[in-house]
Parts: sequence; structure tokens; C-alpha cells
Amino acid sequence: MKTALVLGAGGFIGSHLVKSLVKQGYWVRGVDLKYPEFSISFADHFVIGDLRDPHVVESVMDKKFDEVYQLAADMGGAGYINTGDNDADVMGNSILINVNVLKRAEIVGIKSILFSSTACVYPEYNQMDPDKINCKEDSVYPAAPDTEYGWEKLFSERLYLAYNKNYGMKNKVVRYHNVYGPEGTWDGGKEKAPAAICRKVAKATDEIQIWGNGEQHRSFLYIDEAVKATIDFYRQDKYFEPVNIGSERNVSINELVDIVSSIAGKTLTKKHIPGPLGVHARTSHNELIKSVLGYAPDENLEYGLLKTYDWINEQVTKESK
Ligand code: NAD
Repeated sequence: MKTALVLGAGGFIGSHLVKSLVKQGYWVRGVDLKYPEFSISFADHFVIGDLRDPHVVESVMDKKFDEVYQLAADMGGAGYINTGDNDADVMGNSILINVNVLKRAEIVGIKSILFSSTACVYPEYNQMDPDKINCKEDSVYPAAPDTEYGWEKLFSERLYLAYNKNYGMKNKVVRYHNVYGPEGTWDGGKEKAPAAICRKVAKATDEIQIWGNGEQHRSFLYIDEAVKATIDFYRQDKYFEPVNIGSERNVSINELVDIVSSIAGKTLTKKHIPGPLGVHARTSHNELIKSVLGYAPDENLEYGLLKTYDWINEQVTKESK
């Protein structure tokens, strides 16, 4: 039986990834500070542990797994990573995890790890104008991410690739662009735009508050597509540089609100208020992933938002009882 280790298995992408690997017949060990918040874990063995602690990493990486996915990071949506209030934790915690994991992999003889990077590595100067966005993989340098979260990810990307160069590993790096879907954080400050908007729409009767003028542009990728592309990219054996996993369909936050409102059957007035915004415009560039995998994630935003809205609406209803 094939084995997989998923670090960050209690998180949004990690818990969906575990489910998918188990369905494929893998024996999976998941590790996280917490169990998945909104469902049971499908992992065969789930370890609650802090990956900043090298002893924990030593105990969970005790053998060669067939596949290792590293998704653990101290992160959140714009309310968490764009304010600057959490920078020391965001950088310090995640870098410790990545250093521990790589050092241990080298000792145990694990040859390949999937590292989850982010679209936040791309330079701010290429994301000011929605008509001229450049998030092509090789546009990442000269580096100028707009957050410390992006800088940590960029450094860690380089660290994983340095282990390829110096220790003969075959690590893979994916840059996710706004992955969303059911069973993701939807409240409390770490939620991302699609979840926050679904929650606001579910709770609203006549008005919805939006950070900034709502003209920030983003693309959003449904979780099932992100998981499939992650596994497929990890299993290919010809490309070892970072690749985008995202959608190329670019929408403004105002448009996102309109789509979710129409799914909910509500007519809402948008009230624009001050709040953390991030870069002006960002979307995936999928030429490279298409050439490596033979496909790129498709763009059915309405389908994904329908699934996500239904789930969040259910949570809001449960909470209000
Ligand atoms: P998430 O926050 O839901 O999952 C991350 C998990 O890591 C959490 O469950 C958290 O408890 C765990 N973790 C944090 N510190 C830990 C520690 N010290 N020890 C053990 N576990 C720890 O985030 P996600 O959306 O599932 O994202 C997964 C990965 O993908 C992250 O690395 C993230 O930076 C990256 N990413 C995600 C997106 C997205 O849109 N979801 C976009 C870009 C990059």
C-alpha cells in the first residue's frame, strides 16, 4: 500500500487533499496543530503536533513516505496577512516549519516534497493595473512581494529548490491563487474573500460592507481542482521549477459580490468601507501548467461559489440557532 504524509492536514487544502489520497487507496498520516474544523479527518493516522518543534518533526517523519505534501503555514486572508500585525509570527513560524521538514527529510532519505507556495510571491509592481497583470512564473524576479507572507514563501521556495540542487531531492513547488470551497475558514479573521463574501451575503438583509472600492481584481480556484492539480503536478517527473495553480478568470470583488448575491437570491446595496486591500489586481497565468500537465484548472466560478455559499449559509444558520 502506498503511503503519504500530509503536513497541515487539519487545514483547508490539507484536509481535502487527505480525503482525495485516501480515496485513491493511500495510507495517510496527517499532522497539524488541530483537527479539521468542519469535518472528521480521513487520515489513517492523525498526529496533533507543532511542526516548529524539531522533535515533533522527527517523530512524524520517521520513515520514507511515497509522497510528502507540506501545507502547514501560519496564514490567513487579507485581514491576517495584509495588516502587518502578524508579520513576525507569519514569517517566523512558517520558516521554522520548512527548515525542520527539509533537514529531517534529508536525514530520513525522503526524496521529494510538495511545497505549497502562493501567488503572493509575485511583485506588487506587476499587479497595479487589471489590464496588465503579470503573474507568469518567471516574472517573480526582481522580487517585490507586497507582504511578509509572500517574502517567507519566496525564501522557502528557494530553500526547497536548494535542497534539490545540493542534496539531490526532487521537491516540487506550487503557487496557489486563492483556493476556496466548502469546509474552509469562513469567520474569525483568517477567512479569505470568497468565504467572507459568502458569509456577509448569507447574513445580510439589505446591505453588504466591502473593503475598499471593490475594484480589487482576483481569480479564485475551486478546491477540488486545486487538489487534483497538486497531486498531478507532484507525481510528474519532468518539471521542478515553481508552477501556478489557479484560475485565469479575473473578477473584481464587486463582481464576486454580485455573483454570490444572485446565488442567494438577494438584492443588496454595497457599502464600501476602509479595510486591508492587498495588491490591486492578481490572476493566475496557466500556460506553464498546461504545458506540464496537459491541462489547466478550468474556470467554473459560479459552480464553486454555489457549493461554497450553500455550505457557509448552513454554518450561519446553525450558528444563529
Ligand atoms: P490553512 O490555514 O487552512 O492550513 C494551514 C494549516 O497549517 C492549518 O491547519 C494550521 O493549523 C497548520 N499549521 C500552522 N502552523 C503549524 C505548526 N506550527 N504545526 C503544525 N501545523 C501548523 O491554509 P490552506 O488554505 O489550507 O493553505 C495550505 C497551504 O497553501 C498553506 O501553506 C498556504 O500558505 C498555501 N496557500 C493557500 C492558498 C489558498 O488560497 N488557500 C493560497 C496560497 C497559498
